[in-house]
Amino acid sequence: MNKSISPLKKRICKCGCEIEFQPRRKDQIYFDTIHANHGYNHGKRKERDPNSSTVIKHIRKNDSILRFFYEQKVGGEAKPRLSSLKDAGFNSAISVGNMEKDGRRYYFMYNYKYCFLSTENKEYVKIEKVK
Ligand SMILES: [Zn+2]
Repeated sequence: MNKSISPLKKRICKCGCEIEFQPRRKDQIYFDTIHANHGYNHGKRKERDPNSSTVIKHIRKNDSILRFFYEQKVGGEAKPRLSSLKDAGFNSAISVGNMEKDGRRYYFMYNYKYCFLSTENKEYVKIEKVK
């Protein structure tokens, strides 16, 4: 925890997803705008934007597909083909956000994240748990 180079402490997203994130600003209470909309719509009990609830459905589906492949991991690491994920209905255009870490770009769902194993050849992905 003390290894963080940012002066801001990590915090838990206020939308209810329990993602821990590194805030970029002092007043950032949501992981990103999708989470902000989700939290806002729930908090204010407004009618939900149909587009954003579709996005959330895709994220939940992506998340359960990532979990499925994560649980099939061999030798401690889950490295399936992207095409296998897509065959299961994975939508790689949708994530709750992405973040650069150790030279790789990770794409986040609620509980799982993934990155491409190679930037040139986006055939295989590596799946990790968010927390
Ligand atoms: Zn959230």
